[in-house]
Amino acid sequence: MKSKNIATLAIHGGDQHDKGHHAIFPPITTASTFIQTNLGEGGDFCYARCGNPTRHAYETALAALEGGIYATATASGMAATALAMELLPKDAHVIVMCGVYGGTYRLFEKLRRNTSGIEFEYINLNDLAAVEAAIRDNTQMIWIETPTNPLLELVDIQAICKLAQEKNILTCVDNTFSTAWNQQPLALGADIVMLSTSKYIGGHSDLIGGALITNKPELAEKIDFIKTTVGAVASPFDAYLALRGMKTLDVRMQRQCDNAQQIATFLENHPAVVEVHYPGLASHPQFELCQRQMRTGGAVVTIRLAGDMTTVKSFIGKLQYFVLAESLGGVESMLNHSASMSHGSMTPEEREAIGVFDTTLRLSVGIEDINDLIADLTHALA
Ligand SMILES: *Cc1c(COP(=O)(O)O)cnc(C)c1O
Repeated sequence: MKSKNIATLAIHGGDQHDKGHHAIFPPITTASTFIQTNLGEGGDFCYARCGNPTRHAYETALAALEGGIYATATASGMAATALAMELLPKDAHVIVMCGVYGGTYRLFEKLRRNTSGIEFEYINLNDLAAVEAAIRDNTQMIWIETPTNPLLELVDIQAICKLAQEKNILTCVDNTFSTAWNQQPLALGADIVMLSTSKYIGGHSDLIGGALITNKPELAEKIDFIKTTVGAVASPFDAYLALRGMKTLDVRMQRQCDNAQQIATFLENHPAVVEVHYPGLASHPQFELCQRQMRTGGAVVTIRLAGDMTTVKSFIGKLQYFVLAESLGGVESMLNHSASMSHGSMTPEEREAIGVFDTTLRLSVGIEDINDLIADLTHALA
């Protein structure tokens, strides 16, 4: 019996069995190395950079969750993205969704462009004709992120992956905002899923981690080779924490996305809010795509307040449950001021050109009682 249901996979997926003591949860094995009984008679593990039992339990569970055959757990989301770049030869051309995560942009532009000669071209992937026109002989990968941050624009994963497949181009989807619970890129034709597990997979704002997942044997082999060679693997403790968090992914996501939908609806009807970006609202320009591609509109809601920075400061100061912080995806509700935090390195003109204003705020909705969250927002907006 092999369930395809996320709630069950999050708990029973992969190879989590503890062969030593049949512990119900995989123990944290910190050993750096494993004793070999004689020459050529090793067990399942030999040296912990290559493989570790705790990481193995977590990685196989994560692979099952995303519908892959292989996952590698890395020290951070950025380490996973850096690993994916190692798949490319020098001088490759990569097409990237415009508005990708700031750290991804920094890695591509400030590092890989110089160290590997890779050329990254930023295109709105919803313009298929523009993507097709941008493809060259050396185009090796299309980097997809959907929904984008902070304005929650979606990309039609299936359409892009079909085009890429015809041209023999790899596709990698940053699925951090959604996880397999909300959308399944591998089933939609993507080759690789990248995750920052620091967000929804961990879910408790208590770890930094990342992963690459694939359903292609030849890619699994390449990624595993690169992982062992580069060595930016997740520690046993972080693998344990992430697996523990992942077990409750279904109930957390259900509640968080449900809360977010109610909050988006509430804010859309509030006079002090001039814009609400949420893919689960019929007013979102890609509402139809959201319904086709995602289970819900997700747990992030981005708003633009009426007023100026003074209004924003007063609003933030009055909030009790929404705490001001970088990051998202935890059980606690958080808010992020895009202009000074995630997009702080851009000039006001650059920011406004992409729709990020001084009064733009990104809400990461937690699992608190919805009535308390609405009351908190009502009070702060008054
Ligand atoms: C946080 C994040 C990352 C980077 O992950 P870290 O775990 O912080 O290294 C990448 N992509 C997205 C969409 C993110 O939100």
